[in-house]
Amino acid sequence: MEERISMVHGSGGAATSELISAVFAKEFANDTLNQMEDSAVVVGSGKIAVTTDSFVVTPMCYPGGNIGRLCICGTVNDLLMRGAKPKYITCGFILQEGMEVSVLQEIVHAMAETAKEAGVTIVAGDTKVVTGAGECYINTTGVGFVPEERDVSAVKVQEGDVVIVSGNVGDHHAAILSSRMGITNHIESDNAPLGEIVEALFTAGVEVHTMRDVTRGGLATVLKELAQASGTTITLEEKALPVTPQVRDFCGLLGLDPLYMGNEGKLVAIVPAEQKERALEAMRSAKYGEGAVAIGTVTKEEPGKLYLVTGIGGLRNLEVLQGEGLPRIC
Ligand code: MG
Repeated sequence: MEERISMVHGSGGAATSELISAVFAKEFANDTLNQMEDSAVVVGSGKIAVTTDSFVVTPMCYPGGNIGRLCICGTVNDLLMRGAKPKYITCGFILQEGMEVSVLQEIVHAMAETAKEAGVTIVAGDTKVVTGAGECYINTTGVGFVPEERDVSAVKVQEGDVVIVSGNVGDHHAAILSSRMGITNHIESDNAPLGEIVEALFTAGVEVHTMRDVTRGGLATVLKELAQASGTTITLEEKALPVTPQVRDFCGLLGLDPLYMGNEGKLVAIVPAEQKERALEAMRSAKYGEGAVAIGTVTKEEPGKLYLVTGIGGLRNLEVLQGEGLPRIC
């Protein structure tokens, strides 16, 4: 196998076969994929959740992860946010000419490891090669099954609910930006599959009204959208927002607001106030949920509004992220 990807690896001929066997087949091997048929035939029934996402993050490898870990986490987390149990994943790779094969191997290995961690099987895939500067893009589609009794949706948020976030915000955004700017620090991406947190909530019998993973646009954008979808008012307590000292300092230095920074391993769960302690206990007992805290409440006097009670007692009206934010963060 050559050291770098070239156009011939997209030919569909011998070089493509060599790429598939040298890089993909050994990492992704499973009974379904090994059949190498035109499509995967899998088993499933009932309420099916489907999601798709394309990953273009730059740099491809960053502190705490890479595009391979990210594409699995992003896709399974979107399935989980509807109460689904993630089961199958497909992946489409668009490789740019000149990409180092060793980097591709590292990315594919991370995908395989993360899929194992998240309990999903990679059942189909595709590779194309285009001209470019040696980077890659990955599209993933995920399929999961929603237990019949679960009904998790933005419209279910209601007066009397509380807002819980599963841990520190801003880490992924800060790690990507640090990496891009060549800033040396100890900030790592939080990219993680959130299945254990979600299962812990349902196992504890929490009546989860809605969940969202806090990705692009950050906490403020996600919660503003939920307030609008449900016609409620959400009020956050600035003092309760979990941000590590490192990320807080990084934000201070660059004038960033953690409320608008993307994460790849955090969720918000909105649950009835009387179930707050049970939900917190369940989330904190799960992997990646150790830092869960309640950060706000839901009322209904001003439908669609999101407010922040600031550290000094002021009231700040929050809108969705305006402008571009940080491009190519996921
Ligand atoms: Mg999402």
